[in-house]
Amino acid sequence: MDFGLNDAQRLLLDTVRRFIRDELQPLEEQVEEQGYLAPEAAMAIHEKAKSLGLYALNISEEFGGGGLCAVDRMLCEEQFGHTSDILVRRAFGNVYEALLACQGAQVARWLAPCVRGERVCSIAITEAGAGSDAQGITTRAVRTPSGWLLNGSKHFISDAAVSDFFLVSARTGDRGISLFMVDKGLAGFTLGRDQPMMGLRGTSHLELWFDNVALEPLALLGEEGQGFKMAMAVLGQVRLAQVGARAVGKASHVLELMVEQARQRRQFGQAIADFQLVQQMLADSVIEVNAARWMMLHAAWMLDTGIDARDQIAMVKVHAAETLGRVVDRAVQLFGGMGYCKDLPIERYYRDARIYRIYDGTSEIHRTVIARSALRRGAALFDLHR
Ligand SMILES: Cc1cc2nc3c(=O)[nH]c(=O)nc-3n(C[C@H](O)[C@H](O)[C@H](O)COP(=O)(O)OP(=O)(O)OC[C@H]3O[C@@H](n4cnc5c(N)ncnc54)[C@H](O)[C@@H]3O)c2cc1C
Repeated sequence: MDFGLNDAQRLLLDTVRRFIRDELQPLEEQVEEQGYLAPEAAMAIHEKAKSLGLYALNISEEFGGGGLCAVDRMLCEEQFGHTSDILVRRAFGNVYEALLACQGAQVARWLAPCVRGERVCSIAITEAGAGSDAQGITTRAVRTPSGWLLNGSKHFISDAAVSDFFLVSARTGDRGISLFMVDKGLAGFTLGRDQPMMGLRGTSHLELWFDNVALEPLALLGEEGQGFKMAMAVLGQVRLAQVGARAVGKASHVLELMVEQARQRRQFGQAIADFQLVQQMLADSVIEVNAARWMMLHAAWMLDTGIDARDQIAMVKVHAAETLGRVVDRAVQLFGGMGYCKDLPIERYYRDARIYRIYDGTSEIHRTVIARSALRRGAALFDLHR
């Protein structure tokens, strides 16, 4: 087993780290205060990231993306965790792998402009009445002589304010759930309110309403009735990247600040780092973050090797999200009153971390998946040598 990085990986990570430190982190406070990222700033970081070859790293080179394997991508995603969600979205893109199912004319219309950063796509699965139970949706698309007629609604759709089109799940006939590419601006398609969130300032989360929206036949992604399977297949990678790897990055970032604070802050005539109860907070955080990192890279390696990684990704999702929660909680404690005060970003990290246990499948849902696998196939399922 080789746990080292090669020269190409080191160069890539150095480039990403420098870009995040110099271009993105300085914008964080401004976004937090204003509640949005100014379009000019968004364009500037997008152009710079693109010029460095850092846009759409997850998409194959055939379509103009970075073509990174899963391990290299997760190494980058971990670094992305060192800054805010909205800055990552605008700088590095958020191109869903599901779009790789585009065929023929769909490629030029929906996939390629996303990879070039000319169009933004959000994924719209959740409804007010169907969250964890993603198959319980009531949005429906009915076939017509000229295509489809879409009716229903979605909510909590991230980035919807800036998105040009949406990957929408809808019930089709008796044949299950299908995915449609729905352009903003179509008659009958309206954006609802921006649902205010605890954290993630700068990223919009909108309701979407579909009232007899006429879709052309080209809008169907993949085969009718295969949408749920397709969404679940690709969302695994998204989950590993945007929750697993980013949670590891966020926890590492917070940990660096904790170590620095423990060294600098003096009470009772000595650095608080000298107190064993403070050391325990650091030690537990280091242990948990490192365990999460290796779990995450192992799952990425499985993806690259073609081994089914669904259970491992579920484990990473739970462990990394919960590790992040514990680490930011300890960070608030270690910083004392300053951890709770808005003069420092610790309280923001605390708020931003909470969602990791909820979106992309709650901890409870992933635990259920893991337990079912263990009960069906035995706990040895998780041994490397089976
Ligand atoms: C900030 C944010 C961004 C989001 N972005 C998007 C997006 O871009 N696109 C999108 O489609 N969705 C998005 N979502 C929706 C997100 O994926 C859902 O909120 C999540 O899947 C949970 O669904 P729910 O909120 O309806 O909770 P519910 O499903 O109602 O769950 C409520 C509680 O019940 C528990 N529960 C439910 N079922 C079970 C079970 N079988 N066993 C045990 N416990 C169970 C849950 O774990 C949870 O604790 C976003 C949500 C938020 C808050």
